[in-house]
Amino acid sequence: MPFDARGLPAPLPDVDIPLCVPNIGTNEWAYVKECLDTGWVSSAGRYVERFEREFAAKVGVPYAVATASGTAALHVALLVAGVRSEDEVIVPALTFIAPANAVRYTGAWPTFVDAEPDYWQLDPAEVRAFLEHDCERRDREVWNRRTGRRVAAVLPVDILGHPCDLDAIHAVAGEYELTVVEDATESLGACYRGRPLGQRSQLTCFSFNGNKLLTTGAGGMVATTDARLAERARYLTTQAKDDPLEFVHAEIGFNYRLSNVQAAIGCAQLERLDEFVARKRQIASRYAHALCGLRGVSVMREAPWATASFWLSTILVAEGRAAHGSRALLKSLQAARIQTRPLWQPLHRSRAHTGSFARPCPVAERLNREALSLPSSTGLTEAECDYVVERVAHFLAGDRGAA
Ligand SMILES: *Cc1c(COP(=O)(O)O)cnc(C)c1O
Repeated sequence: MPFDARGLPAPLPDVDIPLCVPNIGTNEWAYVKECLDTGWVSSAGRYVERFEREFAAKVGVPYAVATASGTAALHVALLVAGVRSEDEVIVPALTFIAPANAVRYTGAWPTFVDAEPDYWQLDPAEVRAFLEHDCERRDREVWNRRTGRRVAAVLPVDILGHPCDLDAIHAVAGEYELTVVEDATESLGACYRGRPLGQRSQLTCFSFNGNKLLTTGAGGMVATTDARLAERARYLTTQAKDDPLEFVHAEIGFNYRLSNVQAAIGCAQLERLDEFVARKRQIASRYAHALCGLRGVSVMREAPWATASFWLSTILVAEGRAAHGSRALLKSLQAARIQTRPLWQPLHRSRAHTGSFARPCPVAERLNREALSLPSSTGLTEAECDYVVERVAHFLAGDRGAA
């Protein structure tokens, strides 16, 4: 087993520079030790409440409900938003699959809509095109004419640390009286028009999985400004107990509560969120300055409405313009023990979601072919960052003999 400089096992066997790994400090150890010392290790305990309170304050919302994962947060948020079996929910084609899966958990169907080409987020114009061209209004509801299903909600996903154009999405959603459940799991710490993500939509979901902006090992959060929605989310995530003493239940609930040990890690990580975001922004800007001169290479830019948290610094390697494609670059970096990753298969192409309705999604398809996420751990050193740059430049400039 390979070891790192401190003599600890290296995070991955064939990798010197991983894509994105957790950054664990001293308070994480101290808070977890306290849980173990006191026996408060499960889903009750003061760290769960403290994590919810401090997270809500950080994001600037009155309510936050901790969950066992980001996917659980999405499932519960959709239920709380009133999404029912055989409804439809608008989901971007270009995202990690979890939000689309969460829609299926409720019995509803995702409808896939394309990304916009500038910042790669859900395209509000395409959301509008779907509602205008593929749907009809009946009373105060919107129905997909092709599938015969009711459209219940829009689920924008702020991908890669960059916010969607939330005002534009809310404007369309408002016209059609659709609830907006936002998936900001990749973009904690980012701001939309100067305000932290989590404030704009009726419900916003976050994940604290291992490689997200901050981690609890596994975990998630539902943020909301609505007391009723928060109470309902809390009820459903804790087995829907109506009488905790007599074990009386009127509904099927879920065991979706975060544990105290995980919340303890979360409290310590939250203290460092600003530091993490600042570091991610430095990494993105270092890559941007160093790589943008390469023929056919561009980086994810920041929209005028955005202060991105740059969860994963991502480049596009333009087909027909760069010397090699993104997948050849990935292999070349892999040989140099640098871990990179393409973006997700667009979901309208996913066999897991056969039977879902989709608009044409040419932008998502092109971004999937051209994008590559580069190492973005907050612990990445300048030297490592420069080494990645050098290997990318060397490979893409190879044909012209320059390094
Ligand atoms: C990571 C992620 C999730 C799921 O979070 P988990 O905590 O792993 O369940 C959901 N949506 C997006 C966009 C993600 O990147």
